[in-house]
Amino acid sequence: MRLIFLGAPGAGKGTQAVYLCEKYAIPQISTGDMLRKAVQDGAELGRQAKAIMESGGLVSDDIIIGLMRERLAQPDCGRGYILDGFPRTLAQAAGLDAMLGKDGIQLVLLFDVPEKVILARLTSRRTCSQCGKIFNMISNPPPADLVCPDCGGRIIQRDDDTEATVLNRLRVYEEKTAPLKGYYEKQNKLAILRGDAPLDQIHREMDDLVAPLAR
Ligand code: AMP
Repeated sequence: MRLIFLGAPGAGKGTQAVYLCEKYAIPQISTGDMLRKAVQDGAELGRQAKAIMESGGLVSDDIIIGLMRERLAQPDCGRGYILDGFPRTLAQAAGLDAMLGKDGIQLVLLFDVPEKVILARLTSRRTCSQCGKIFNMISNPPPADLVCPDCGGRIIQRDDDTEATVLNRLRVYEEKTAPLKGYYEKQNKLAILRGDAPLDQIHREMDDLVAPLAR
């Protein structure tokens, strides 16, 4: 099962990916998580990416495509994966198609959420700095001691979840990533879901869309 989750920052890609990844025992591959880990580890990639990420811009296509080529070659990707936050540009989408050849992406789920909802979601989002688990101060508050119940990591507000950076990330999304909708529509792979629908409705819709791929 080879899927892409598309949608603006805060559309719920990461949260929805966890549901399907657990159900089908496939990895969730988030370039954002990989880059944040590189920043935390002080890796060369992290040094290059840190300032770009803090401003809400995009890391260069060459770096990201190289990162994904290595990641998708890992054995845990053999049964499939969900790509979350990649591709983010037309060049990345073309790079991915070239990389996968005939075993290409089967389905692209676009989570559509109004900008007003996104802004509210992102500025109230909190994230485990270690495992990436997502909380929300309004709908799913973290424990009062801000210690992650899953891994014991510290729960924080991401540097790029502040209002100014979020606005920039949304602009970048409209300019660079939104055109991917047409790209995958042409390939007949696109399905659009309302990302602000109740969770059980989103789960049902995802189940209906992906079940035929699991057979
Ligand atoms: P995310 O966690 O997906 O919101 O990503 C956080 C930040 O990492 C983004 O705002 C970008 O700066 C960078 N990033 C993540 N994925 C990509 C990508 N596919 N291409 C370029 N930059 C990326």
